[in-house]
Amino acid sequence: MPRRNRRAPGPPPVLFQPARAQRTSCENKERYASEAEARSIALMNAAPGRPAATRPYQCTICGGWHLTSR
Ligand SMILES: [Zn+2]
Repeated sequence: MPRRNRRAPGPPPVLFQPARAQRTSCENKERYASEAEARSIALMNAAPGRPAATRPYQCTICGGWHLTSR
């Protein structure tokens, strides 16, 4: 079978790039291996007698866990 597929170039490949802000927030944040670890850090950082001001979420970029204040 001749390899003559070099006619019309197809659409450019879609490169999934996470939003810059999202990627930066990942790189700049502490990374935890598990939700439990992130949660315990959040509780440690909270003021005594106050609930944690941050909550853990699993990062879609690195697959680890970060803390968010929202
Ligand atoms: Zn991340």
